[in-house]
Amino acid sequence: MSADIRSMTLEELTEALGEMGEPAFRGRQVFAWLHRGVRSFDEMSDISKSLRERLGERFSLSGPAVARKQVSQADGTVKYLWEFPDGNCIETVLMRYRHGNTVCISSQVGCRMGCAFCASTLGGRVRDLTAGEMAEQVIFTQADSGLEVSNIVLMGIGEPMDNLDNVLRFLELVNHPQGLNIGMRHISLSTCGVIPGIRRLAELGLQLTLSVSLHAPDSETRSRIMPVNRAYDVEALFGACHEYFQRTGRRISFEYAMIDGVNDADWQADLIVRRLRGMPGHVNLIPLNDVSESPFKPSRRTRQFQRRLESQGVTATVRRSLGGDIDASCGQLRRKAMEKEGQ
Ligand code: SAH
Repeated sequence: MSADIRSMTLEELTEALGEMGEPAFRGRQVFAWLHRGVRSFDEMSDISKSLRERLGERFSLSGPAVARKQVSQADGTVKYLWEFPDGNCIETVLMRYRHGNTVCISSQVGCRMGCAFCASTLGGRVRDLTAGEMAEQVIFTQADSGLEVSNIVLMGIGEPMDNLDNVLRFLELVNHPQGLNIGMRHISLSTCGVIPGIRRLAELGLQLTLSVSLHAPDSETRSRIMPVNRAYDVEALFGACHEYFQRTGRRISFEYAMIDGVNDADWQADLIVRRLRGMPGHVNLIPLNDVSESPFKPSRRTRQFQRRLESQGVTATVRRSLGGDIDASCGQLRRKAMEKEGQ
């Protein structure tokens, strides 16, 4: 048997160790080691050799390897291409802000949501990541860079709501005081608009920040660029967002990649304003990253669009782009690596 030990909660680990005849504190000891980034049980130096051997018989423990690493000369952003033991690769980005280091993690290998402008979805979804594999991105980014991570965003490759059980388990792991101890208020989760997932999060009432990738306020445009809109229409999506706000009291952040001639018209800004009425939303305008496979071009109306939102009382910011010199936008490094291998 080789259970995925890094996905286990402290309670599960304590129970498993209890079955092996170990006292409860041993669970806390092993849990802490796992979240400090060991790659083998032999590194757990305050645990007896015989227990380390028995753990090795029962559980598998490794970690992802650095397949590629790029460091931005401009702003210190670090991008990792991690390779898991099964050969699958995903990306993690470490961004250095004045308010702390933020790590952007992937939740799936690939994605099946099919957004027309996004590089991560071009090859479809290969598999979900386990909670442990999501945690490992934070743990090993921290270990490799020597920088302490204070914020996590689930905005890398994959749709978190399409792998929500594992994502919730991941949140429990990284939130744990014996683990990375990262507060919910320091975590953001981004979705393309999977309504049942938004409802489930609302019921749990977690204090994390929900980001919704809006990209168009009207159904026609949104269905054209985001197939998810055909299943969960933008009107119903805003309904779920209003409910989410009422239940949690948390302001939602709306991501909006500015695409030339597609979603950057004044009437679309006005429609965003109308849809947000009754809820304090924040619109984050993102300069579109050029993906060579996509026909879309970056908008030249970003500032006008921002002013139009702001003049009607909607907070809108333009995202500062980090790591421009290293393809730090998601999905691009994995794509390049796949092309090279002729996959
Ligand atoms: N699946 C989730 C999280 C991952 S994508 C989601 O859709 O929210 C993280 C963000 O990057 C999303 O807002 C996504 O729409 C955006 N994005 C994808 N491709 C982009 C591109 N080429 N330019 C700008 N933003 C992009």
